[in-house]
Amino acid sequence: STDLGGFSHEELAKIHRDHLWLHLTNHKLFEKQEPPIMVEGQGVIIKDALGKEYIDGLSGGVWAVNVGYGRESIVNAVCEQLRRLPYYAGSMATPPYILLAQKLASLLPNLPKVYISNSGSEANEKSFKIARQYFREKYPDKDKYKIIYRDRDYHGTTLAALASSGQRERKAKFGPLPEGFAEIPHALCYRCHFGKSYPGCNLECARALETVIQKEGEDSVAAVIIEPVTAGGGIIPPVAEYYSVIREICNRYEVLLILDEVVTGFARTGLMFGHQHYGIDPDIITMAKGLASGYMPISATVARKGIFDQFLVEAEDVSGYFRDISTFGGCAGCSAAALENIKIIEEEKLAENSAAMGKYLIDNLKELEELPIVGDVRGKGLLVGVELVEDKKTKRPLSEKLLAQIVADAKAEGVIIGRMVRSVPGHNNVLYTAPPLIINREGIEKIV
Ligand code: PLP
Repeated sequence: STDLGGFSHEELAKIHRDHLWLHLTNHKLFEKQEPPIMVEGQGVIIKDALGKEYIDGLSGGVWAVNVGYGRESIVNAVCEQLRRLPYYAGSMATPPYILLAQKLASLLPNLPKVYISNSGSEANEKSFKIARQYFREKYPDKDKYKIIYRDRDYHGTTLAALASSGQRERKAKFGPLPEGFAEIPHALCYRCHFGKSYPGCNLECARALETVIQKEGEDSVAAVIIEPVTAGGGIIPPVAEYYSVIREICNRYEVLLILDEVVTGFARTGLMFGHQHYGIDPDIITMAKGLASGYMPISATVARKGIFDQFLVEAEDVSGYFRDISTFGGCAGCSAAALENIKIIEEEKLAENSAAMGKYLIDNLKELEELPIVGDVRGKGLLVGVELVEDKKTKRPLSEKLLAQIVADAKAEGVIIGRMVRSVPGHNNVLYTAPPLIINREGIEKIV
């Protein structure tokens, strides 16, 4: 009974093979196997074109569908807005666009200025442009433009976002990338960059920020961008004091702290925003994915008022305000989707469910640490990873082939989970899951 829009599965698969160039995919695979085609979703369940159903342990593949599938109220909010007014350029506001800014400001009162774009990459690019221009307006005699990022974090696909990403294998073939970016070590205790162990480590990984600022020149560093919990780089929640060290160094050197909450935002980690676990006060936050749960493409860059105020200039000054534009940024339908999505997250207390089900998931997975290949179980809320090793002593990563086999076996059992494989020696091989935040204990048990 699966509706494929009048096509047979074979026809769709052939068109797929003939024409589609998918994201992050080695198409050679499809010479031997059927390309997967997903057609329907309800709650946490997703159905493919052959009619097989799965628990979606990845919220749409890239941890986006926080509120789950089949949300009529989001569909209706978008349709109503599209009927009334589908679009007007982002430099003229529409009611949902205005109300979304107000809603985000109410969630993050210290960051009341809201700039809307289309994707996580763009939100991060905007944050870099804001940081650079902010300092150019504030200190015309200095050139504070460099952006520091963390090993293993990912900030997007566009060239500057990629330059600021700490995943070498993603950058390898696309250089030269923009300059002005420098790296600090990751915050993964299981494979401490400094060979130390917490709590006796003096938080060297956070303190490295100061070393890098000094090396790059404090008058040249504008910002540091960090994922509150590293997602695609291995599911890495830093230890409790990590961000107070980072914040203090940022204050000392007047470096803006940008937090990329593209994955961790909107209740994914058990609180509305990931940084709230750490009680820190960032200067800019970027968000996307869970902002409209993938029902529409939308992202936001939110900033302190003091940053925004630096862009308030006289009417005749044509370069002092933020000269940045995006055709679809602020699109009325996307804003309507985001507003309704946030309403659902709040009304259904999905942050609480994410925290409770995330704890249940981790507690259950921790039992697997007895197995010889399970090196580390870690995560926050419903963002959880299991690092697999061939040998617990040497921590040699489990082979990519076995990792792929586990993911394929899970899929055959009706559970979609993901794997992160690093081609860089010594890096981690991690299975991960980030299901919709509405998942219940039964769903968690199936994933485990
Ligand atoms: N930031 C983080 C933490 C991400 O995980 C991603 C995408 O996975 C991005 C930014 C980029 O977002 P987008 O793919 O919407 O450009």
